[in-house]
Amino acid sequence: MPIQAQTPSRSVLSHTDRAELVDRLDGQVRFDEPMSRRTTLRIGGPADALCLPTSIAALRAAVEWCTGQGIAMIAVGSGSNLLVRDGGVRGVVIATRNLRDLEKLDDRRIRVQAGVSTGKLLSAATRWQLGGVEFLGGVPGSVGGGMRMNAGTYLGEFKDVTTQVTTVRMDDGDIVIRPASECGFAYRESAIPRREIVVEAELALHARPRADIEADVRALRLRRLAREPKKVSNAGSIFKNPPGDYAGRLIEECGLKGTRIGGAECSPAHANWLVNTGGASAGDMLALIELVRTRVAQNCAITLELEVKVIGED
Ligand SMILES: Cc1cc2nc3c(=O)[nH]c(=O)nc-3n(C[C@H](O)[C@H](O)[C@H](O)COP(=O)(O)OP(=O)(O)OC[C@H]3O[C@@H](n4cnc5c(N)ncnc54)[C@H](O)[C@@H]3O)c2cc1C
Repeated sequence: MPIQAQTPSRSVLSHTDRAELVDRLDGQVRFDEPMSRRTTLRIGGPADALCLPTSIAALRAAVEWCTGQGIAMIAVGSGSNLLVRDGGVRGVVIATRNLRDLEKLDDRRIRVQAGVSTGKLLSAATRWQLGGVEFLGGVPGSVGGGMRMNAGTYLGEFKDVTTQVTTVRMDDGDIVIRPASECGFAYRESAIPRREIVVEAELALHARPRADIEADVRALRLRRLAREPKKVSNAGSIFKNPPGDYAGRLIEECGLKGTRIGGAECSPAHANWLVNTGGASAGDMLALIELVRTRVAQNCAITLELEVKVIGED
């Protein structure tokens, strides 16, 4: 990986920092990486460094280095629920997507690393005739992000199948193993501490014929296909559904479908999907988010909460 002689003025990483990071991570690091390349919304300024460790040991080495240098870090998965601001991310982004081990421990338990995609997990479970993760049909992302978000659909969520989660603490690089009962899984969130990086999880599934699993997944995918906007960059639902209602219904009721700010649009196909029609900045998207929240608050007396996670600086 070539190291630039001159570092961009906004970066907090010196030339020496960069060389040390390359060394610690055996080259699995990119500098000044546009986060627009790493998010499904295709929006976001550069991260000073994007680390892509392929083992838990390498990830811990990066964490220990950042802690020692006092450099800020943040964990990301596949970027399917992320809005990165236009100024990018100062410090180090640790992406867990290259932690890809997946194994069947016994007749119902699976150990899965954070970088395994939800699609890979679902196909392995289907192959092993283990039911329980059918809810992942058509849900993008990785297991790490899925754990943090407690990703799910009407068929279930990670909370239903997770027995324990292993993390690496940003403060000292130590490993923490937590039973699911201590992860605080709730609707599209968890209480896994923000200063911990999910590296692995154990799931308990149940024996189920492959044909039954496939039938449920097919039905879920078809339902999604009929409702979801196509061929635009997006992060799925931008807002959480408020209790007893749907964010999409409320936004539609306010007449906002099709509303645009710059390249950001409230999708005509699904009002809770604020999409990037091409060339949207984070500023466009954040302005549209604010407009939608204000209108829904005024017209429906409901404050919509963001599901998508916003990181970085303006
Ligand atoms: C087309 C589309 C459809 C979608 N449909 C659904 C749906 O039906 N249901 C649903 O729940 N979601 C849905 N989503 C949102 C998204 O798929 C989920 O939130 C997914 O779990 C995010 O995983 P990720 O790996 O992409 O996480 P990222 O987007 O990378 O990160 C999400 C959050 O998790 C944190 N994080 C990521 N990895 C780690 C880690 N290893 N350790 C600690 N923190 C971490 C990040 O800091 C961030 O706060 C959809 C998104 C898209 C684009």
